[in-house]
Amino acid sequence: NRTDPLFSQVGFYTDEQRQRFIREQQVLDEIEGAMTRGEIIIYIQAKYDIEARQVIGGEALVRWQHPVRGLLGPGQFVGILEEKGLIMHLDLYVWEKTCQFLHRQREQYGQVLPISVNVSKYNFYRQNLVNLFTDLIAKYQLETKDLQLEITETACAEDTEQIYAAVRQLQKAGFTVLMDDFGAGYSSLNMFKDAPVDIIKLDMGFISSDEINAQRSFAIIEAIVKLSHSLNVPVIVEGVETQAQVDFLKSINTRYIQGYYFSRPVPEEDYAALCQTAALPQKKVSE
Ligand code: C2E
Ligand code: MG
Ligand code: MG
Ligand code: MG
Repeated sequence: NRTDPLFSQVGFYTDEQRQRFIREQQVLDEIEGAMTRGEIIIYIQAKYDIEARQVIGGEALVRWQHPVRGLLGPGQFVGILEEKGLIMHLDLYVWEKTCQFLHRQREQYGQVLPISVNVSKYNFYRQNLVNLFTDLIAKYQLETKDLQLEITETACAEDTEQIYAAVRQLQKAGFTVLMDDFGAGYSSLNMFKDAPVDIIKLDMGFISSDEINAQRSFAIIEAIVKLSHSLNVPVIVEGVETQAQVDFLKSINTRYIQGYYFSRPVPEEDYAALCQTAALPQKKVSE
């Protein structure tokens, strides 16, 4: 029926857009069930100290083990969940999975390395975010230092006052807050001045840029690292893949990296093994 408004509207879209709508609708229809069926899982990527040569912790990254489409990354479902106001539900699920993992680690080894979780900006509009996190760690007999929180720089830029107030409350409660993708936004220098963050994660765009821009990017990395050192804010450089990048980072006294160079995001049990085998013996070697 050509006069059907829906039909004519759909007519404005390209095949590619239509495919995307279908995919997005599928995500919305299936996500709830995916969580209850246990299809939503976490991969963990280690953070690494290149000086001490040891794992310093990890980051939980959501994955969807989809029965038909295979293993999906956050790029395929997080955006639409944010758009529809459903991300808080997924985030909470991921935080809970992370705490369960930490709890098992603690039972087995007595102590754990901290793991950070991503906190979508929409969570900062809930009244009870601090209680939610303190209840969560209490439920799994963890300490505030075990579960770290990542918030992106662009989120902070958007509703700065409200988000900073919530971040300060989280810090007051004992949580460590990391600023994710630092440098990807437009107001990084102001962030440096005002943001209540404990650790900066330098966006991978700087380290991974092409040859032509490499010199400029390296100069910017060096400047940010120097600035953060003089402000006493540790930096983790994201997206480190090669030995050459590691050599450069060492030359400017950067210790902490996260990237394929040391490890990709891996299933929980592989990360657990990494903490046991890679971290501890290597530390002894370097002593
Ligand atoms: P992010 O928090 O900045 O996480 C880092 C992303 O970079 C991850 O992608 C990781 O796999 C990738 N990465 C790490 N090292 C390297 C490297 O050396 N080279 C390259 N090319 N990539 C590297 P992933 O897992 O696809 O996650 C993408 C983004 O999705 C995350 O960026 C984060 O913003 C978001 N995200 C992940 N899990 C969650 C979640 O549970 N909740 C929410 N709200 N967002 C999440
Ligand atoms: Mg992150
Ligand atoms: Mg990041
Ligand atoms: Mg990112």
